[in-house]
Amino acid sequence: MTAPVPLESPPCPVCAGARYRPTLTRVRDLVWRKPGEFTLAQCDGCGLVATRPRPTPDALGFYYEDAYSGEAEQGMRHFQTESGLGKLIARYRLGVLQKVRPLSAQDRLLDVGCSYGGFLRVAREATGCRTTGLDADEGSIAQAVDQDACDYRVGHLVDQPDGAGSFECITFFESLEHHPEPVAALRKAYALLAPGGACVVEVPNFGGFWRKVFGRYWLPLLTPQHLFHFTPATLARAFEAAGFPTVTRQHTMFYPLEGVASLGLWLGKVLRSPPPGSPPSWRTPFDLVLVLLLVALYFVVEVPSQALLRLLNASGHQIAVARKPAATQEAGSSPPDEGPAPTR
Ligand SMILES: [Zn+2]
Repeated sequence: MTAPVPLESPPCPVCAGARYRPTLTRVRDLVWRKPGEFTLAQCDGCGLVATRPRPTPDALGFYYEDAYSGEAEQGMRHFQTESGLGKLIARYRLGVLQKVRPLSAQDRLLDVGCSYGGFLRVAREATGCRTTGLDADEGSIAQAVDQDACDYRVGHLVDQPDGAGSFECITFFESLEHHPEPVAALRKAYALLAPGGACVVEVPNFGGFWRKVFGRYWLPLLTPQHLFHFTPATLARAFEAAGFPTVTRQHTMFYPLEGVASLGLWLGKVLRSPPPGSPPSWRTPFDLVLVLLLVALYFVVEVPSQALLRLLNASGHQIAVARKPAATQEAGSSPPDEGPAPTR
């Protein structure tokens, strides 16, 4: 079944190529169960994997409707801004940034796709930096935390009026893969960064171990909301295409929400095959048994496997930091504190 919305197949944002070969077919929205089947295809020129064809920008709204609103919205807001795990993830992200470009009270931080502002709150409390949060979703910004302490905006990065050099750090946490023009967004980030500033991107890792095991059932695919599916190599190419001379730090993350959750998606599909378009439900006895089984597997398999995969640099999420060269430097040379990107 093809998607019930208009589709498009734009050229590759990294290399402008138009020759693609399919890598995963019949990929569906297994989380919100919206109708439509999609193909993930790899660019011949640079290797970047894209959802192709994909819903047009106007049609994408259909796949976001009700996904982040109502009950789901309140649960997500609590997770990101109040829960211990949500704060731990935010502190981890800040820690990666601090190793490359430590923030101070004079610095300005922009979070693109900031959602309810959970990361910005943690960064502000830890460093005293000034914060700006940008999100395309009006509802998230309306409910974002600490409205008086943060400059929240609804919109897209490429439309922001700030002058060159307006921020010391710009972050994209699980947002670049949703962006129809990810290289244009990174290019704009490069322009908005002050000399020596850092850009942090966290996205799923399409090259990860569990993705290869579960294929189209791998939870972080989140198709068609995710328009691009980066490996560490293609993420580095996207940075380079946007003007960043080098990626300073890049590795996969301990992120224990992929293996067992993907198994749950696969089991739910194989054992029950809900009709397309039916809402997610965890309220039948079948669901309860499934959930208990998955919780047990979570602690026996998922958590230890994530620790191992993190060591092997093969887990399902990755984080990368790239810097804009300092103003005093000759064009083409590397800042003194930048070595080659560590492999983990
Ligand atoms: Zn390409």
